[in-house]
Amino acid sequence: MDYAGEPVSRCWCGNSQPETYSPEYLRCPACETLVIARAPDPSWLISIKDESGFYGRSYYEKYLIEEFGFPSLPERARTDLPERCLYWLRTLLRYRLPPGKALEIGSAHGGFVALLRWVGYDATGLEVSPWLVEFAQRTFEVPMLLGPIEQQALEPESFDVIALMDVIEHMPDPAGAMRRCAELLRPGGVVLIQTPCFPEGKTHAQLVEENAPFLKMMVAPNHLFLFSRKSISRLLGEAGLRYVQFEPNLFPYDMYLLAGRDPLAIHPWEQVVQRLEASPGARLVRALFDLDDRYEDLKRRYLEAEADRAARLEVIQRQGAQLGELDAARSRLEQEVQAREVRLAALAASQDTLSQVLARTELALRESQKAQNELHQRIGELSQQLKDLETARRQLEERLAETQSQLAAAHAERESLRQALARTEQTLHEAQQARQQQQERLHELSDRLEASDAARRQLEERLAETQSQLAALQAERGRFGERLAETQSQLTAAQAERESLRQALARTEQALHEAQQARQQQEERLRELADRLEATEAARRQLEERLQAQRANLLSAEAERLEARELARSVETELSRVGAVVQRLRYSYVYRILRTAGLWGWLAEVVEDFQRCNKTDSSPKIRQASGR
Ligand SMILES: [Zn+2]
Repeated sequence: MDYAGEPVSRCWCGNSQPETYSPEYLRCPACETLVIARAPDPSWLISIKDESGFYGRSYYEKYLIEEFGFPSLPERARTDLPERCLYWLRTLLRYRLPPGKALEIGSAHGGFVALLRWVGYDATGLEVSPWLVEFAQRTFEVPMLLGPIEQQALEPESFDVIALMDVIEHMPDPAGAMRRCAELLRPGGVVLIQTPCFPEGKTHAQLVEENAPFLKMMVAPNHLFLFSRKSISRLLGEAGLRYVQFEPNLFPYDMYLLAGRDPLAIHPWEQVVQRLEASPGARLVRALFDLDDRYEDLKRRYLEAEADRAARLEVIQRQGAQLGELDAARSRLEQEVQAREVRLAALAASQDTLSQVLARTELALRESQKAQNELHQRIGELSQQLKDLETARRQLEERLAETQSQLAAAHAERESLRQALARTEQTLHEAQQARQQQQERLHELSDRLEASDAARRQLEERLAETQSQLAALQAERGRFGERLAETQSQLTAAQAERESLRQALARTEQALHEAQQARQQQEERLRELADRLEATEAARRQLEERLQAQRANLLSAEAERLEARELARSVETELSRVGAVVQRLRYSYVYRILRTAGLWGWLAEVVEDFQRCNKTDSSPKIRQASGR
């Protein structure tokens, strides 16, 4: 927002050398407070005569709504009660029990002041806008002061409780204001503060990087000082409020604390609850606490159910992923089994091929043996023929020798014939008559010689023929010898081939044996895989059963969550009913008379109204929630 402002050169703590922190804020290294860099004029901020100041009517009806999206003041007067005032009161009651005097500085619509009054404090509000003071008086019928606390004529040590909720960061002089509060506090009294918490030690760049919720609190000119835990403790200590107790903050960018001049004591909640029986208004607030407890419990259970649901969803998703992995592993195993079956089939096929080769080899071996046997038989036959031929040759030789002896006899006979011829010729010469006879005899002998010569030539031809037959037989015997050697070498080759076939057969048998062993191993592996597959199936079935059980749990958690939401709705209905009761009360004629007469018995009316309202309500959940 654009505003006129003077450069600031001094922190609340007196340090005159604050450092630049962000475009709109300085940081005091002495006390760790963020100080606005350009300070607006206090008279511009606050005007108690009219609504011209920054914190006038338009601050609530325009600025907060337009700049920050806050609800309207009447709406906040309704919603702040359960959303923040009840939380503040719960803490306060544990430190300081009613009755007592209470003051809320910067009380806005006055809801918290009203709540303090209902539990038994004599509480007053304080605002700097006349319009807002009138709004609070009209809305919650609470007493209000107008103007800064420093300007109020109040008795020292007259208050048991002073509350500054989201106020101290707006004050031009927080140290002076806290000194004033310390003066106004009775012994044992407490100051209740809620204010933004500067996370000290962090640079502006770090906050921007973290997108820290606190960045929303660095708003000029609204927030003049933004304290850290350290600096607010120092501020309170220097004002005389030495005892400081931080409580859990309601909003993430805030801090929430109590401070006192004396040590702070905490009352047990049972004692607080007992004190809330003291008046009808206190009972009403106790009922609000009960409802709030119930609401917080439901909220907690709802968050637990949500967290549980998320955890279960995660488990389901994780198990789904595991299931997917198992499925993938199973399909991998199936593929492996199929691949092995294919290999097995290939092995069986190769075994078949080997068997066929073996059968063919055996057949070839048998044929080879048969051929060998035939060869043996043929060799025997040939040997027999050879023997026969030799016998025949010996017979021929014998006959040849016989013929030669006959031929020799014939020669000898021819010689004797020649001698006889010579004797005959001599006789012829001696005898003429006898010569004719002798000539005839000679012719006869000549014929016989001629026949003998022819027989001799025939014998010579026959001898030559026999000799050529013998040579042919010898040549044939040589050929038989060669053929025998050839047959023997063929036999040796056949034996060598048979040996190699035998070795091949032995190798084939070895390979067959190994293939059978491998097939047995594969069958065992197959059986093992089948067992593992069965185990995986069983595990998957268990997972599915667990999944179904968890789905059932999830459904019941969802049903519980719906029931919780229904209950929360009924609580909200009840809260709005209480608001309506208060509204009716405010406009009741009797109350206006009692108020004019200064009689404060109106709270009895509230209770009656509240009880009547509850009796007519038929919802068993509301009766249960309000403790009946
Ligand atoms: Zn400082």
